[in-house]
Amino acid sequence: MKCPICDKEMQEGGLIIDGVAPGWIPMEQFQKKGVKRIVHTNLRSIGKTNILLGQTKVPNAFFCGNCNKIVGVFDITNNIDD
Ligand SMILES: [Zn+2]
Repeated sequence: MKCPICDKEMQEGGLIIDGVAPGWIPMEQFQKKGVKRIVHTNLRSIGKTNILLGQTKVPNAFFCGNCNKIVGVFDITNNIDD
């Protein structure tokens, strides 16, 4: 995959997340402050979680050494209704 910023070839890899529920949330939820941060709705979760290790592996992350950035194309692994 080519870097969307500099167009150089990126290195394929994956993310390791020390936690069990990584995911994407809409901006208005992402910007919540204080105690409200604890509860999120509409989380689109990603990756495969190993509860025993307390770790989640997320494939399809690409690293650009030129920009020093990681770009991801992640499959959503839960089902929520909009
Ligand atoms: Zn780049």
